[in-house]
Amino acid sequence: MHRFTTETDAIAQAVVGYALDRIKMDPPPLDGPATLEELRAAAGETITADGIGGEEALRVFADVLAPATLSTDHPRNWAFVPAAPTEASVLFDLVVGASSIIGSTWIDGAGAIYAENQAIRWLLDLAGFPGSSGGVFVSGGSAGNLSALVTARDRAMRERQAAGRERPARWTLAATEDAHSSVWSAAKVMDVDVLAVPTDERARLTGEALENTLQQRAGDLDGLFAVVATGGTTNAGIVDDLEGVRWVAQRRGLWLHVDGAYGGAALAAPSARALFTGIEHADSVVIDPHKLLFAPFDCAALLYRDPLVAARAHMQEAAYLDEVTELENWNPSHYAYHLTRRVRGLPFWFSLATHGTAAYRDAVEAVLQLTREAADEIRGRDGLELLEEPEISVVLFKRDGWGEDRYLTWCDELLDTHTAFALPTTWHGEKVMRFCFVNPVTTIEDVRVVLDTM
Ligand SMILES: *Cc1c(COP(=O)(O)O)cnc(C)c1O
Repeated sequence: MHRFTTETDAIAQAVVGYALDRIKMDPPPLDGPATLEELRAAAGETITADGIGGEEALRVFADVLAPATLSTDHPRNWAFVPAAPTEASVLFDLVVGASSIIGSTWIDGAGAIYAENQAIRWLLDLAGFPGSSGGVFVSGGSAGNLSALVTARDRAMRERQAAGRERPARWTLAATEDAHSSVWSAAKVMDVDVLAVPTDERARLTGEALENTLQQRAGDLDGLFAVVATGGTTNAGIVDDLEGVRWVAQRRGLWLHVDGAYGGAALAAPSARALFTGIEHADSVVIDPHKLLFAPFDCAALLYRDPLVAARAHMQEAAYLDEVTELENWNPSHYAYHLTRRVRGLPFWFSLATHGTAAYRDAVEAVLQLTREAADEIRGRDGLELLEEPEISVVLFKRDGWGEDRYLTWCDELLDTHTAFALPTTWHGEKVMRFCFVNPVTTIEDVRVVLDTM
C-alpha cells in the first residue's frame, strides 16, 4: 500500500488522467443527485476485506458516484453560493494533496505558510488592515465566524478580568436575522445570546438601528461583546452599513466582526469597494476564496486586525506564547479552532501568483457586471419583476402569478434537463427566485436561455 509499484503506476495514470479530463471539461456536466436506493443498486458495496482494486473503485466513482454530485463550477449553477475555481488553483490542489504538508506550525510548514500568508496579505491590504494584522486559512466561513467570535469573547473576558469585574450572567452578540445561519450557529455552540437588531428595508444592519437597539436594551448589555455585520448577505448580496456600525462598535468598545464569506471578494472590485467603507476598522473579517475568489473547496480566510488577541484565545499550548509574538514563528494553528490543517490556502496562492491580482480584479468585476446585465435583462422582460438592485452578484426577482410550488417545479425541470441549477428563496416573507453568480465564464446568454424557459 505504501510503495509505488508498477501496479500503482497504472492506477496513477488512470487517476491523474481522470482528474485532468475533469479539469479540461468545458463546461463540466451539471449532473444531479441520485437516491440512496439508486446508488446502492449501481455502486453496491465498495468496502470489502480484500479491496475491489483501484481500477474498479475509480470506475465506480466515474460511472456512478461523480454523476450523482452536482458540479458547482457549471456556468449555470446559481443555487446557494456555487464555485468557480481557476484551472491553476485546481491543478495545484493536486500538488497539495501529493505533498503531505501539515499547515499547523511554522516548524512543519514554513514554506507553505509563507506562501499562504502572502495571499492573506493581499486580502488584508484589500480590507485596509494595518501591517501588524494577520490571518489564517480555515475550512469555511462557518469555522471563520466561530473562531473570530471566540476570539472576541476571550478579549472581552480578559478585559473584564483585568478590570476586576465578574463574568456576566450571559454573553451576548449583536447581529441581524439576515446574518448568515453560521453566525447563529456559532452563538449556539458558544452558548451566547443573540441580540437581534432590526434591519432596514433592504435587510441591512445600520449604525442607527444598532444604536437604537442598544439604547432600548440598555439593561441587557452587560455581557455584550461583539457586533456581527455582513459584507454581502448570502440571500440578497447586500452589504451592511459598515461605516455606521463601526462607529457604534468603536464608541461602545465592542468587537466588530465582518462576515464577508461570500461578498468580501468584492473588495477586489473597484466598482464595489465603496460599499465596504468602514471595514478597515473591523477587528476581524472572513472572506471565502472558495466562493467568489475562484479557489477550490475548502478555503476561507480569517483576518485579524491584531492576531495576538486570537492567539491568546486559541493557542492550545500556552508554553508557545512567546513564539507567536515573533513573525518567524507564525503558527496558523494558533489563530482559529483547529490544530491539524491542510494548507488549503496554497491552491489560491498558486493561482494568485500565476495570474496576478489584476486578473482577479477583472474576474470579480466580470461577475459583478454580468449580475448588472442579468438585472437589466429581468427588468426588461414582461412578467418578471426585479426585486432589488444587486450590489454584489445575487439577483432576486419574481414571475407574475408564481408561488413557491411553481418556482420549485420550474427549478426541478431545469435540473432534470441539466439546463441549470437554481433555487427560490424568501424575501420580505414571499417566495421569490434567486440567482447567485460567481463564475466569470457565465454569460448573459446563459441567463437568457434560462429565463426563456420561465
Ligand atoms: C457561505 C457563507 C458562510 C458560511 O461559509 P462556509 O464556507 O459555507 O462555512 C458564512 N457567511 C456568509 C455570509 C456566507 O455566505
